[in-house]
Amino acid sequence: MSNYYEIETKYGAGVYAKQQLSIVRGQGAMLWDADGNAYIDCSSGHGVANLGHAHPKVAAAVAEQANTLITLFESFPNDKRAALMEKMAGLVPGLNRVFFGNSGTESVEAAIKFARLSTGRPNIVAAMRAFHGRTYGALSATFNKKYREGFEPLLPGFSHASYNNIEALEKAITEQTAAVLLEVVQGEGGVYPASAEYIQAARRICDERGALLIVDEIQSGFGRTGKMFAIMHYGVTPDILTCAKSLAGGVPMGAVLIGEKVRNLVPGVHGSTFGGNPLSCAAALAALSVIEEENLPGQAAEKGAYLMEKLKAIQSPNIREVRGLGLMIGIELKVKVAPYLKALQERKIIALNAGMTVIRLLPPLVITYEQIDTVVAALSEVLVMDMSNE
Ligand SMILES: *Cc1c(COP(=O)(O)O)cnc(C)c1O
Repeated sequence: MSNYYEIETKYGAGVYAKQQLSIVRGQGAMLWDADGNAYIDCSSGHGVANLGHAHPKVAAAVAEQANTLITLFESFPNDKRAALMEKMAGLVPGLNRVFFGNSGTESVEAAIKFARLSTGRPNIVAAMRAFHGRTYGALSATFNKKYREGFEPLLPGFSHASYNNIEALEKAITEQTAAVLLEVVQGEGGVYPASAEYIQAARRICDERGALLIVDEIQSGFGRTGKMFAIMHYGVTPDILTCAKSLAGGVPMGAVLIGEKVRNLVPGVHGSTFGGNPLSCAAALAALSVIEEENLPGQAAEKGAYLMEKLKAIQSPNIREVRGLGLMIGIELKVKVAPYLKALQERKIIALNAGMTVIRLLPPLVITYEQIDTVVAALSEVLVMDMSNE
């Protein structure tokens, strides 16, 4: 047995709850531990590996670009970056410009800055249960105390309105609101899809009061929910869309898609040393063409419907609700999920929690039906168990 766990526990900063399972290799929806045991990955690194692990086209694009040009500040144009900008500007009608960063939280930081700069207003309305990241702006928009406590004071001007509640939005959005910031499907908060009425009302109220609508698609983007972006289920165009996680096939990258109402973006107001580097851009170009060629949104829609039906058929007194969109699925239990996740791992399935009582399934979109059946069989076995003493 390897001692990576001991080494990382000893020398790491200590901010992660580490599993005693070292992963050294991946392919498609499979991961392998240091002893050669295979696992089905239903976490995708929190929604990063939508294309599956070590996708050959992404790997080839990264290798080729690493041998060509890894770094270039955005002051100088570049073939891969220009191609990616053109591509991303065509993804969502109405969002025709793009800013590149390196992570989800940076995308949210940029979106908050753009909204304040554009409107000259201070306030951001986010939602209860929201998760937007861990740097100060994004953390101020994040709801759960668990992430916020010990770091106050956070940024002024942020408030949280009850999710899927139109009345709460009506009350929260004022003439001082720069933007409303929402996940289209709340991820960390427990896998809650927005209702169509809610998203449409958010758009309408923002328009009436001169606020911008920002959707955070960092987890729900790039095919995960059955469409390229989850907002496309709703017939609504936001003013700003944040993405990251799966954008570059696993290579770190974030992006902000920007609509016409966003103003005052002139040289110097924002930037990033690594943002738009050719290595990440080449990876993202490869990832986006794989998403198209393999119709990953379509695969997520079909496989998500299949998996959802099988999960809803599981009879267990422990299950409160199964919900989600595409391959972004939550199984809410009446009890704590930790022992169930452990039991799944013993059956060689890696799944996530979302809070204390929700099992979250975010498998790579390339997961096979056979693998889904294996996951369902393990869940059927585990979910009926009484783990109240664990
Ligand atoms: C993961 C996530 C973030 C933060 O992304 P990082 O890359 O970890 O900074 C922000 N918003 C949502 C909805 C996320 O799921």
